[in-house]
Amino acid sequence: MTKVSRRNMLTATAAGAMVTAVTTARASSFGNPDEPPQGAINAKNRQSLTDPGPQDRVLATQFPSAQSPPPTDVGDLPQFWASFNNAPRRIQNGGWARQVTQADFAISETISGVNMRLAAGGIRELHWHLAAEWAYMTYGKCRVTVLDDKGRAYVSDVKEGDLWYFPAGFPHSLQGLAPDGCEFIICFDDGKASEFNTTLVTDWLAHTPPEILAENFGVPVGAFSKIPLHNLWIFQGKLPAALATDQKAVEEPGGLPPSPFTFSLGSSEPVRQMKGGEVMVADSSIFTVSKTIAVGLVTQRPGALREMHWHPNADEWAYWIKGKGRVTAFETGPKAVTLDFNPGDIGYVKRNNGHYVKNVGDTDMQYLEVFRSSYYADVSLSDWLTHSPPEMVAQTLNIDEATIAKFPKDRPLVMSE
Ligand code: MN
Ligand code: MN
Repeated sequence: MTKVSRRNMLTATAAGAMVTAVTTARASSFGNPDEPPQGAINAKNRQSLTDPGPQDRVLATQFPSAQSPPPTDVGDLPQFWASFNNAPRRIQNGGWARQVTQADFAISETISGVNMRLAAGGIRELHWHLAAEWAYMTYGKCRVTVLDDKGRAYVSDVKEGDLWYFPAGFPHSLQGLAPDGCEFIICFDDGKASEFNTTLVTDWLAHTPPEILAENFGVPVGAFSKIPLHNLWIFQGKLPAALATDQKAVEEPGGLPPSPFTFSLGSSEPVRQMKGGEVMVADSSIFTVSKTIAVGLVTQRPGALREMHWHPNADEWAYWIKGKGRVTAFETGPKAVTLDFNPGDIGYVKRNNGHYVKNVGDTDMQYLEVFRSSYYADVSLSDWLTHSPPEMVAQTLNIDEATIAKFPKDRPLVMSE
């Protein structure tokens, strides 16, 4: 009996020592949770950090978080960084375009991205396509034309910060205006959509028997003798007439479409204005025609953080306009991967995956969060934790209730440093 008691006592002592060891390990692993430990902080032998092998230093320095991930990163996620910066430009007289579709960026299932420049007078040929087209103007001025399915025409000029949306199948054109044309980002609501493969008016006419053209348009066959035999896609045209003149020229007894196909996001009221930045939103609640794309335009001061959150309704396709951002995406597993973003880059975070966006540069950072959805939605981590019973949150996280009470309770969107 004595022996057994003694063994019990020994066991109890060992258990006590184990508790102490676990506590100590927990303290030393704060911010450093993996087993085996990961991250530069755990590389006691500094050779574990160096990279003697071949590398392109210019390219490599663009990705500090990939080069040396925070020790909290774990596992892998499908690549969620892409860029227009290395997408081949299709250059023609009148402008150029480049694209990042799901063929280039496997994770990007819901959105295909295009970056286009039109010279002053440069025309993106009259066309239509299977996907809906949403766009954000990053530079200059552009004239857009579109016809709806009731035969009502819409012509408008857009400037930096403006949007357009053309529902799938609605035929449209784009033209750069004086003095220096325009540049913009297009999102199709289908990751597979390609700007290099659209339904072009020149192609259709060139591939229709001339006598059919004559009958269709009620004019002699000879009228079509000089039509282009190959498509134009983008071509240099003359600067268009004044906007009012073009609008008058397409006027219909049916009147204008009930809702405009353009919207000024850049000059709209922010949904939140904070010390750390601001967020503007355009979805079908204010930009009525935009039934399949919702967007947030986020501006963050240096050091500011787009709070930890996720989107319950859609994947996020993000486009970097200005500044330097760092994103960690978090998924079940656990998996957590951190990547860096610069102007012209694209990020993609799957629906319901947690993420934050930190401005790691010394200038304002601005990016678009684009969703294939009729509405903008997000769930804030701090909002959730402050709207769950405090005692339960305290027990879960081992943080006292008084501290939890200091967490933001109002979905701040952006926190300043
Ligand atoms: Mn188009
Ligand atoms: Mn987001």
